Amino acid sequence: AGGRRRLIAGNWKMNLDHFEALTLVQKLDWALRDAKVDLDAVEVAVLPPFTDIRSVQTLVQGDKLALSYGAQDLSAHDSGAYTGEVSGQFLRRLGCEYVLVGHSERREHHGEDDALVRSKILAAVRHELAPVLCVGEGLESRQSGDHVAVVLAQLDAALEGLGADDVPGLVLAYEPVWAIGTGETAGPEEAGEMATALRGRLETLLGAPAAQATRILYGGSVKAESVAEIVAVPDVDGALVGGASLDPAGFASLITAAH
Ligand code: PEP
Repeated sequence: AGGRRRLIAGNWKMNLDHFEALTLVQKLDWALRDAKVDLDAVEVAVLPPFTDIRSVQTLVQGDKLALSYGAQDLSAHDSGAYTGEVSGQFLRRLGCEYVLVGHSERREHHGEDDALVRSKILAAVRHELAPVLCVGEGLESRQSGDHVAVVLAQLDAALEGLGADDVPGLVLAYEPVWAIGTGETAGPEEAGEMATALRGRLETLLGAPAAQATRILYGGSVKAESVAEIVAVPDVDGALVGGASLDPAGFASLITAAH
């Protein structure tokens, strides 16, 4: 939509053993070739656990696979005494293009607040990674009807004080928390309402050219059967896919249906 290249990104979360991870990338590549998916029209990215990224890099770069890859999180810091953290610099050196920032599972289980999310966006940009900023409301705010205000407030806080030049490559992912891993999914109208509101707010925050260039993904129980109607929504430019990205044939049919 709007001249933006579609993006389908697979968030593996903490799944697959090392062998399964490599097999998935190879089989996905074969399946996409087999289905003659036009990867100029739709970009495909995988987001493995940190421990698989080096091997994914070897496969993608060695065999020249037309897949992008990235990480599910990064440290807000660049180096130093931060035990257990992984810096944007490390990820960039492994050839990552993307990094999720503020996924709802990080916000919920690891206490990530908006200020930390903002710092992580800046850390990503410092190392030439495209941050995929995840925002989304919980069930209560969807039910009470303040979901748009809640999600726009997350966007405001994550981009506070920043301009278009501060966040090159930014991608947004609208992921209603009640739809992640639940089998529940927002319909095209709900996804469209939020994507349009997000693009409008991006225009205010970053200006019209950046707002038009930013890809806005939908995520939350997206399946091969549901992806086409979601990506047909004018302001939705792709999908962030969890569970349905773990099976190569299934993910390939989802991507085929999305392009
Ligand atoms: C996700 O983790 O970003 C996600 C959307 O998961 P699922 O597709 O499994 O709901």
